[in-house]
Amino acid sequence: MNPFGNYKTVISARATDKEILKKAQDGGIVSAAYIYGLESKLLDGVIVANTEDGFNAAPKVATTPEEVLNAAGTKYTVSPNVSVLKDAVREYALEKVGIVGTPCQVQAIRKLIKYPMGFRHTDSKIALVMGIFCMENFSYEGMKAIVEEYAGIRMDDVLKTDIGKGKFWVYSKYGDVKSVKLKDTHMYEQKSCHICTDYTAELADISTGSVGSPDGWSTIFIRTEKGEAYINKMVEAGVLETKNIDDVKPGLDLVQKLSLQKKEKNEKEIVQRRELGLPVPY
Ligand SMILES: Cc1cc2nc3c(=O)[nH]c(=O)nc-3n(C[C@H](O)[C@H](O)[C@H](O)COP(=O)(O)OP(=O)(O)OC[C@H]3O[C@@H](n4cnc5c(N)ncnc54)[C@H](O)[C@@H]3O)c2cc1C
Ligand code: SF4
Repeated sequence: MNPFGNYKTVISARATDKEILKKAQDGGIVSAAYIYGLESKLLDGVIVANTEDGFNAAPKVATTPEEVLNAAGTKYTVSPNVSVLKDAVREYALEKVGIVGTPCQVQAIRKLIKYPMGFRHTDSKIALVMGIFCMENFSYEGMKAIVEEYAGIRMDDVLKTDIGKGKFWVYSKYGDVKSVKLKDTHMYEQKSCHICTDYTAELADISTGSVGSPDGWSTIFIRTEKGEAYINKMVEAGVLETKNIDDVKPGLDLVQKLSLQKKEKNEKEIVQRRELGLPVPY
């Protein structure tokens, strides 16, 4: 089983801008790439998951670095980022759009580029596809139950959420840090995530996640020529600090282990659902 899909290189990296690092989830790769793109005119607009009231998420077309920074950080709930792609082109008249999404969203983006049914004149405006690693996601109500009932923090008071080291972490605006064991969060996972076999956003130009790199750093898969050229420009401009993935801990082995765990577990679920005549992805 192929754990990562096609890629050219993998690196560990973080943004050099301290403001980005302060707001970002991990190494701030997505925000740094977006801000660099807007400032260097490689992109004229980007799609983000904006933080709404009560730490909910909603897709937004961002055209300024401030808007990108406001939307930094992971929201463990669905943000249908692809749904505003047409708006980005038709209402904002953007020509070079950057879009970020979970692996399933990246699949949708590649599909609409390949078969642009209903997306004519939109597909050609996609300038950069960024993917974020994803093991599972939650409905907003599911995330709320984890945060409010298990961690005991009000959604309005959430500053950051993070899944790492076997726990769901909740940081409040007032400095509290609470954690919930992942065995207590499983029942809130979206059922559709159990038939998903992509961990590292295999169809993106650039995929990034926290796993594999030290705290505050990100692992990046550079997959396409476009992605490679983009990262090279970022490094030349000094907006990214990079390390060889072999020189950091825990390194690529952990990404591989988690990716294969997801693929094997969810393949079994697909077989079981197929036997029951339930819908499966392909
Ligand atoms: C549901 C989910 C599950 C994840 N699971 C893993 C995992 O198992 N292992 C791992 O290594 N990484 C996982 N990640 C990715 C990780 O949490 C970070 O998003 C990633 O490392 C990017 O961090 P950054 O500092 O580069 O990005 P930042 O600079 O903080 O930017 C993050 C970007 O992602 C966008 N975003 C935030 N939430 C969502 C969302 N729900 N849907 C679409 N876009 C969003 C933001 O708007 C922002 O533009 C997951 C992310 C999500 C959303
Ligand atoms: S697990 Fe798969 S289906 Fe679920 S949000 Fe992540 S990428 Fe999408």
